[in-house]
Amino acid sequence: MDTIKYNLPEKEMPTRWYNIQADLPEPLAPYLHPATKKPLGPADLAPLFAMELIKQEVSQERYIDIPEEVQKIYRQFRPSPLYRARRLEAALDTPAHIYYKFEDVSPAGSHKPNSAIPQAYYNKKEGIKRLTTETGAGQWGSSLALACSLFDIELKVYMVKVSYQQKPYRRMMMETWGAKCVASPSMDTNSGRAALAADPNNMGSLGLAISEAVEDAAPREDSHYALGSVLNHVLMHQTVIGQECLKQMEMAGEYPDMVIACVGGGSNFGGIALPFLHENLTKGKKTRIIAVEPSSCPSLTKGLYAYDYGDVAGMAPIAKMFTLGSNFMPPPVHAGGLRYHGMSPIVSHLKKLGLIEARAVLQLPTFEAGITFARSEGFISAPETNHAIRAAIDEAIKCRETGEKKVILFNHSGHGHFDMSAYDAYLSGKLTDYEYPAEKVKEALSCLPQT
Ligand SMILES: *Cc1c(COP(=O)(O)O)cnc(C)c1O
Repeated sequence: MDTIKYNLPEKEMPTRWYNIQADLPEPLAPYLHPATKKPLGPADLAPLFAMELIKQEVSQERYIDIPEEVQKIYRQFRPSPLYRARRLEAALDTPAHIYYKFEDVSPAGSHKPNSAIPQAYYNKKEGIKRLTTETGAGQWGSSLALACSLFDIELKVYMVKVSYQQKPYRRMMMETWGAKCVASPSMDTNSGRAALAADPNNMGSLGLAISEAVEDAAPREDSHYALGSVLNHVLMHQTVIGQECLKQMEMAGEYPDMVIACVGGGSNFGGIALPFLHENLTKGKKTRIIAVEPSSCPSLTKGLYAYDYGDVAGMAPIAKMFTLGSNFMPPPVHAGGLRYHGMSPIVSHLKKLGLIEARAVLQLPTFEAGITFARSEGFISAPETNHAIRAAIDEAIKCRETGEKKVILFNHSGHGHFDMSAYDAYLSGKLTDYEYPAEKVKEALSCLPQT
């Protein structure tokens, strides 16, 4: 029988997270304090994050145990299935074998609860009553709303205004799970009020929403802040994805020549890729690891590798990363997520060391790939996920041309059920494309911190 799904029993779910920091050939650059520009200590981060998460952020331990309570909630939707894309292979007439890890099965519909749940858990354990966060398309906000409802924590979400208006269903999900959601820029913070005073029509950005959420949480004893991507501990929580894939590929009797994922801040990419990178670094495997970003926000392929602010107002830590500049304003034409100005320090470091590859793709071809996928595999994918599908299809087409039988694994990071207006725009020919102009990268230099 031709197996379609490789399902692991619950007892095979990973019980530890993998920390790539233990295996890096060179250590990560430290975070810097946004005011003093000196390396950050744990005490600097304590107003924002649970101490256990701060420890994980800098830990050099290879494995960190997943708490029992977190495992119990993970088991509601983990292990997630690995699919062999037999119908897509047939549609492409390719000799390649294509596999995808299916993170759509979480209650929020994406990989994001893998980090939202432990973040809520550690904050609850340390006595925190309230969390704040930002969200772009609403995937992270809804995942954290889910996690906060399970641990009985209050949540306030600053949602980028353009998405707040275009994606009401994600806001409704957050409210269903009991969170409060406001459009950013809002009148609730100094950063929001300043942005609105400068431009009443400011449609927001992730960098600005982060400033609002940080400003809200930092002075309050009862509150912490949570970030859904970028940080080391977030990528580490996501490594349950790749660890499961290693076992499932073994069930399939194959090993990937390529591992592909889309990148916004880097968390779903890190989740699937880091356990395979561990095999490359320690066991001599030679899997190509490919990060796919949008041409409209090409931090890894066109950005500068530099210390930059994590947010617009310069309140969040300064990180060494590939960046388009913290005042980056995403073009409103772009429908999907993946629009953060920076990139995870781990993913940036790996790119700099030549251990991973990166490529940028235009939006229209990503929707074309998503439609091909929907009409062969059946599933309707998130616009972010369509970037990974595009790259996987491109590699499978190359195999058709060369006759090579490569094994391609990609991360299906989430479903697109709340993104149908973007599909509608694509199908009716109204979706436009935008390539970030190379000249603009120089502009970003003017707002980099002097370190
Ligand atoms: C948030 C999101 C992404 C991008 O975020 P990363 O941190 O880069 O993974 C990709 N896919 C889906 C479905 C998402 O919700």
